[in-house]
Parts: sequence; C-alpha cells; structure tokens
Amino acid sequence: MANLQTDIRYLKGIGEKKALAFQKLGVFTLYDLLCYFPRRYEDRSVYKPIALTVHGETVCIRALVADTPRLTRIRRGLDLVKFRAVDESGMVEITYFNQSYRKDGIHKGESYVFYGKIEVSGARRSMTNPVCEREDTEGGVTGRIVPVYRMNAALNQRTILQAVRQALESCREELPELLPEEIRALDIARRRLVFEELFVLACALGKMRETRVKEQGCRLEPVEIEEFYAELPFRPTGAQRRAVEEALADLASGSVMNRLVQGDVGSGKTMVAAALVWAAWKSGLCSAFMAPTEILAQQHLTTMDRFLSPFGIRMGKLTGSSTAKEKREIKAKLQSGELDLIIGTHALFSQDVEYKNLGLVITDEQHRFGVNQRSAMIGKGTRPHVLVMSATPIPRTLALILYGDLDVSIIDELPPGRQKVDTFAVDESYRARLNGFIRKLAAEGRQIFVVCPMVEENEDLPMELKSAEEHARELQEAFPELKVACVHGKMKPKDKDAVMAAFVSGEADILVSTTVIEVGVDVPNACLMVVENAERFGLSQLHQLRGRVGRGSHKSWCILVSDADGDEVRARLDILCKTNDGFKVAEEDLRLRGPGDFFGSRQSGLPEMHVADLGGDAQVLQRAQQAALRLLAADPTLQEHPALRERVDRLFHDSADSFN
Ligand code: ADP
Ligand code: MG
Repeated sequence: MANLQTDIRYLKGIGEKKALAFQKLGVFTLYDLLCYFPRRYEDRSVYKPIALTVHGETVCIRALVADTPRLTRIRRGLDLVKFRAVDESGMVEITYFNQSYRKDGIHKGESYVFYGKIEVSGARRSMTNPVCEREDTEGGVTGRIVPVYRMNAALNQRTILQAVRQALESCREELPELLPEEIRALDIARRRLVFEELFVLACALGKMRETRVKEQGCRLEPVEIEEFYAELPFRPTGAQRRAVEEALADLASGSVMNRLVQGDVGSGKTMVAAALVWAAWKSGLCSAFMAPTEILAQQHLTTMDRFLSPFGIRMGKLTGSSTAKEKREIKAKLQSGELDLIIGTHALFSQDVEYKNLGLVITDEQHRFGVNQRSAMIGKGTRPHVLVMSATPIPRTLALILYGDLDVSIIDELPPGRQKVDTFAVDESYRARLNGFIRKLAAEGRQIFVVCPMVEENEDLPMELKSAEEHARELQEAFPELKVACVHGKMKPKDKDAVMAAFVSGEADILVSTTVIEVGVDVPNACLMVVENAERFGLSQLHQLRGRVGRGSHKSWCILVSDADGDEVRARLDILCKTNDGFKVAEEDLRLRGPGDFFGSRQSGLPEMHVADLGGDAQVLQRAQQAALRLLAADPTLQEHPALRERVDRLFHDSADSFN
C-alpha cells in the first residue's frame, strides 16, 4: 500500500528516467507530487462544430477520420502524417510532423477527439499536431477541464497528469482537511474582496468606455483609402488594412476615437498612423504624433515624410531641443493652421502650444505614457481622436483589461519577406567566440547592440551582473580599434539622445546600453543584438530588444548570454530561440511566469489594487468584468446603485497621482 511518503517510482509508468526527471522538479514522494500544482487549467470540456471554429483558436473538436492517414517522408528527419476529419458541420485537415506512429494509430471511419489550434486560410481549416484520443478515454485529456503543469524535457503533460491522478487515488484517505473551518471561510472572504475590487475596476473602465462612446468627435469625411495606398512604396498587409479600416470607421462615426493598435516590432504600425494622418488631412484637420524620445521623433518624421510628401502634406517637428526660434516658428504655424502634421515629444503638449484645428493625436509606444498624459493631450481644446500604438503584444483578453478604456486593433501579420533573427542562448564559455564574432561583423561595417540589465548601486547584486558602463569599458579595451558608446537611464535625456544619434549615424560601432533602446529605434545597419544576463529580462522584453536588429538587408543575430543555472531559465530563453513571433512569445511568457509578473512592470495607468492580483486573479477578473458589463448595460450611469457609483467615481480620481 502506498502512502504520502511513498517514492514516486511506485506509480505505474514511472521508471528510473522519469523518476529522475521528477526529482529535478523537486518531486520525490507522492506527497511532493500532490503539491506539484498546475500552472493553470485549460477548458477542454466543450466540443465545437468545425464550421464554427475561427482562426487561431485552440479548441476540441469531435470528428470522423475521412481518409486513411498518409505518411510522407519529406527528407531525412522530417515526415508528415496527413488526413482529413469531418463532423456534421465541416472538414479540417490534420497534419502531424514527425509522429509517424500516428499513421497506424488513427483509423479511417472512426471517431476521435482532436484538441489543438485551428488555422483558417480561405475556406480551408487545418490543425497541426493536435492532441488526439478517443472520446471518453479513461484518464484522457479532452472532454474535461485539464490542468497544465510545468514540464521538462523528459516529462510531458500526460505523464504528469497520470502520475498525479494515480497518486490521488492511492492517498485520498490520507488527505484530511487541515484548515479549520474559520480559516477556510476567510479564504472565501478574500475571494469576495478580490471580486469586489475587480468588479469596481471593471465598472470604472466600462463606464469610461461608455461615456467616451457618447462623446462627440469631429466626423471625418469619407475617404477612398486606395488613393493613399497607391502612393506607398509597398503593398499594405491584410492586417494593416484591417487596422486602418477599423480606425477609419471610428473617425467617420461621429464619436471620438480611442483606439490602441498593437503589433509586433516591425509589423508596420507607422503606416497605419500615416493613413489616418492622411484621412484627417483630407478633412482639413491637423494631426499630432508624439514619440517618447527625440530620436524616435526624428525617425518618424523621416518615415512620415516618405509616406505623405507625395500628397503635399505639410509637416514639422517640435521637441525639447528645438531652438527657441524654431519653437516660435512652429508654434505660430500650428496656431495659424499652416501645418498638417506635427511630430515631436512631450513638448507638443506643453501649455503654450496652441492648435488651430487639431483632429487626431497619435502616440507611439504606449507603455511609456500613462493615462493622465493621454488626457492632457485630449485636453487641448476640442476633442481630437486618439490613436495609441504599442509594440507590446499582449493576448487580447489581457489587452482588454489593461487598456479597458480603449478599443483594440491587432496587427498580427508581418510584411512579407522579413528575415528571421537567428537567436542563440549561450553561457560565459562562449565569450571568446562571441568577441570574435563581434570583431568580424564590425570589420564588415556592421554595428552591434549590447544590452546590460539596469543596475542600481546596490551591494547585494551578484558580482557577475554586467553594468552598462563597466561592460562598455571592458569592450573598449577588448576592441581598441572600434568605437564603443554607452547610454543608460541615469544620463540626461539630451546626452542620451546625443549618444543615440551618434550610433544611428554610424559614428560608433558598438552601443552598450541598458534597456533605453528598447523603444523603437531603427538602425538598419545593426545586425547583432547581444543581451548580457539575459535571465534578468522578461521574455517579451527580450523579444522587443531582438526587434532592434533584422531591420535592414543584413542577416541578423541575437545572442542571449546567461550563466544562470536552472531548467526554467533555459526553457525561457529557448522559447526565443525557437520563435520570432511576438504573440507566441507573450503567450509563453504568460504561461511560464504566470500573469502576475507579466503585468508587474506595466500596470501604469491602472489604479493600485489592494487585494486583487490583476494577473493571478485573471479568472475572477474576467467574471467581474462580465458582471460589470451586464450591470452597466442595465444601468449605464449606476444611478440605481449610488454606493457603487461613488466608489467607481473615486477609483480613478484617488489614484490620479500614481499614474506615471
Ligand atoms: P513598427 O510596427 O515596429 O513600428 P514600422 O512601422 O517601423 O514597424 O515598420 C517597419 C518597417 O517595415 C519599415 O521600414 C516600414 O517601411 C516597413 N513596412 C511596413 N509595412 C510594410 C509592408 N506592408 N510591406 C513592406 N514593408 C513594410
Ligand atoms: Mg514603431
């Protein structure tokens, strides 16, 4: 008989190798196994008719295999098994890569459950490597809610799940309730508080959206957008067209637009902005485009000029470093309506800038701006339309929470022909080769980014943590023939921009920095991104950093240097080595770290939560959100719920100071 202290080798299917793999996860006994909690749960309990599935969605379908699975060997090490499966509503093509055993395990004319991601292309639906099992398989992983565990190479979900199930079976009696009744009741109380807090937040966001929708905005005249596309140096992608269309619909609606355009680095958000500037200009309105740094403002000016000069759109730039004379001239022009587009930094919205006919405000890289800055812009006279662009891919549900007061367009497609940035995770033993690589690339005239983690003066930090300045000194010693520049967050903005400008113009070969370069700088000649202490960065952040290279015609690389041990660090960095898709990276990031950390750094703009954890309590949040929307639909101004209304109104008011 087994008890909680029994070794896991006792379980069916757990041999020596798997036992060792479990031990790596800290699981030795059945008790350890029962404490190895899932990271999350997947709802696989609902079967969806094939015809109702949509692109990108992960679903369970129940379908009949329509033809005999065919095995094709593409080349050594790559074979496919392909077949079609049907239900009453439709057909899906299923492909397995390198799972040749599927050919004999799946039979024509029999029914199975498939769980996986649906891809739709035209009228065709397909699934790749879905989970497949017969309905009602004992110990199966479909047709129910399934826990998802942290894995490692030797342990897959099914193994862990089956081990946990067995352990539960054998030890059920030994698991008495330890918590006294009162304490359990406390937990219920906490959940109630969490729900309440999130409900109030959801009401506040929902109400903001409600009132905004009713807010009158200037209605743009209808445009023939093909006129604009015809002058572009490239063909817009489907996703760009969609985003433009959604925004144009807002602009023509008569209500104020508040839209977030989200797209991976390099997905072409700037063109979307240009299309709207063009549309506003067609209606005789001026647009303002705000960038977080002077460098970016300059870059946007160059790009916008390329897109918009064919139409004779008049543009100017206004930043903190414009001379007094320049500022005076630009301001006069804005006041008299002689400019159609002004690009700049925060300076655009300082008090003494007046706009004659401001119709559209665009801000780039939203995570640098908080809600109150957005409203400062909106406060400029009339109600301009607002477009916010962000390169932080966040799964849509989370975006709705974080940007609850905005509508969201997602650009989920990169322009054709993009090069993949080859990514490698290496340790310190690779240093000499890395230096050799840097030397070779620099000799070919390429430039190199090196990013170090942000370092505060702090004695507790491990010695090996690279500080940007120190690392820059080391590199300069190692490469006396090259010019190494350094930029970090403690520098004055002006100095920072000067260093960046020197790098952009090619004066420096290597730029060592903290994450100040994370935000969209474009240096097409840079083809190598080195990240030191890569374990210190979030996956999405690393992905942003990687997006700084691969922007020109040169083959590009990203090298993640980390000496940290641990399977988890490896697993994280491996994700970047395997995919270049920012949304996938974000999803994995969420899965591995849990949403708590993911949100951590970018909660700006939302009031501080006291009991709820916006990430960790995501499910409660979703329920709270649904409840709030239902309530607001019935009572939009919360007139019938005065106490709630007061709380809701106070929420954003009280925390206004904490917005950054
Ligand atoms: P991001 O979304 O990161 O701001 P950008 O707007 O800077 O991306 O676009 C990245 C690059 O891709 C730019 O050089 C831009 O001119 C180019 N680009 C944008 N859209 C397309 C397209 N549809 N086809 C080809 N190149 C494009
Ligand atoms: Mg950009």
